[in-house]
Amino acid sequence: MRYVSTRGGGKPRSFTDILLEGLAPDGGLYLPEEYPQLDKRTLSDFSKLLSQEGYAALAAKVLALYIDDMDELTLARLCEGAYGGGKFSAADIVPATQIGQQMWLGHLSYGPTAAFKDMAMQLLGELFEEVLSQRGQVLNILGATSGDTGSSAEYAMANRRGIKVFMLTPRGRMSPFQQAQMFSLTDPNIFNIAIAGVFDDCQDIVKAISADLEFKRAHHIGAVNSINWARLLAQVVYYIGLYLQVSEKTGAEKVSFCVPTGNFGNVCAGHIARQMGLPIDRLIVATNENNVLEEFFTTGRYRVRSAQQTLATSSPSMDISKASNFERFIFDLLGRDGARCRELFANQLRNSGYFELPEAVFAKISDFGFQSGSSTHANRLEQIRLLDREGIEIDPHTADGVQVAKTQGADLTSPIVVLETALPVKFSQTIREATGHGPKVPGRFADIEKGPRRVVDLENDPEVVKDYLREFGL
Ligand SMILES: *Cc1c(COP(=O)(O)O)cnc(C)c1O
Repeated sequence: MRYVSTRGGGKPRSFTDILLEGLAPDGGLYLPEEYPQLDKRTLSDFSKLLSQEGYAALAAKVLALYIDDMDELTLARLCEGAYGGGKFSAADIVPATQIGQQMWLGHLSYGPTAAFKDMAMQLLGELFEEVLSQRGQVLNILGATSGDTGSSAEYAMANRRGIKVFMLTPRGRMSPFQQAQMFSLTDPNIFNIAIAGVFDDCQDIVKAISADLEFKRAHHIGAVNSINWARLLAQVVYYIGLYLQVSEKTGAEKVSFCVPTGNFGNVCAGHIARQMGLPIDRLIVATNENNVLEEFFTTGRYRVRSAQQTLATSSPSMDISKASNFERFIFDLLGRDGARCRELFANQLRNSGYFELPEAVFAKISDFGFQSGSSTHANRLEQIRLLDREGIEIDPHTADGVQVAKTQGADLTSPIVVLETALPVKFSQTIREATGHGPKVPGRFADIEKGPRRVVDLENDPEVVKDYLREFGL
């Protein structure tokens, strides 16, 4: 399997060649040349595999469809490393539970940091370590985080050979739980850096350092951002796993998914699974008040927002101004026409801040199963409260999903799986506001705010961070 850019440039490349990269050299995103197809027979084999050997075994089989430059034994070992060994607090990794007549929760947040990002990051840690060691290379991962991504990356990369992580956070501006989660890591290859500034300052420092190509090369600087192809691939696996569980339990031939969305990463994996022939009925894109994607799916107009136009909401991991994985879907929607995709993203969007699809192209969106709706703070609180009365706790992002599944899924005959993207323990303030009591604290997080902390304070200055990387980087 080879990988091509959504903007049509460059030669097709192998999986291990693109693994450590972000954007393709022409500014596009990587996608496989074609989607391997799942027929009924394969799905029934996968179903047996999942129930007899478990999630890691299923993951290895799905990965093998997309990766031909690593052997199957290696893939099996890496998937076992990611999803075996008690790292997840549910033995079946992604269980599905029923929460209504037609509605299910697909639990993606039983990983080490209680957010769905662990599903992909854990595998990325295994893959990175393997490929770096094969190639005799090292990597200093530099990132900025205000929440879930940074801690998920740190837990996945902790103690790995040939990798160090330098994660910038806005000093004093993360929730106590999030700070504790990151700063309590004592592994010597993890470096938490608290910057005197806000999240945008942290991100600006990362951008400034990444733009210095000479420094970047000399100091082996890389990233683990949401456009990485391997992250999407890891996510395709749970769509298959959840489909198999829910179709078996309900007898339904088709299953729909409702996905709380920020960067279009999670739901993009659903799109890929559907393109592989997985019998997905609808893919419902749930946004919060930052409804860039809802606007697109209802009007055909994709309009990015500025930082000032991006609201700080109570589902903060979905507060985005543009959806960084979205170009992958548009490429497929345009019949994989890289030149047209480049025209939309590299010209129209850059020049005018939006593009609008021609009527005939927009009409194809429903062939791809997509529909979309949005949720507000009040909706979120209501859904949390309603389920809490039945003894089911959900986090604010999942609540956006439940809200939109109810409004958008009313006419569907297929069961809807709402993807649960975090555990409520991460967002206790909103849970308390909704229900009057705090969320359950799973045992493994009980003492998290008590232990020692490992974090350095640095000035809001890229040169100071560069000096730090020179001193401590690989
Ligand atoms: C990252 C994240 C999202 C959004 O996921 P995308 O892949 O960016 O669409 C939703 N909920 C939670 C809790 C997250 O951490």
